[in-house]
Amino acid sequence: MDAERHIKDGAAAASDYRRSETDLNHPLAIFHGNESESRALADAVAHYCTCASTRLAGQACPVHTMAAFDQRAVDGLVFVRRTVAPYVRAEWRVTAKA
Ligand SMILES: [Zn+2]
Repeated sequence: MDAERHIKDGAAAASDYRRSETDLNHPLAIFHGNESESRALADAVAHYCTCASTRLAGQACPVHTMAAFDQRAVDGLVFVRRTVAPYVRAEWRVTAKA
């Protein structure tokens, strides 16, 4: 199963669970990133997904639940992905000692 299909299946499971539990009080999150950011999110969700164990209890895993419903988290992931590079470079920059 490829990563994008995996995230869609998990999000659908999360959607079914949440909608039946909360009766539409949690709208689905909208992804505001580009295609490569979407693939990266799908890969990360697929990597950390634990639906195989939580579905037995009728629940999607926390990772799929976050990707499906937590708009602030999804927006934050896109923001950090776009802005983190200068901070990482600065952290690893070695200055010459006099
Ligand atoms: Zn999952």
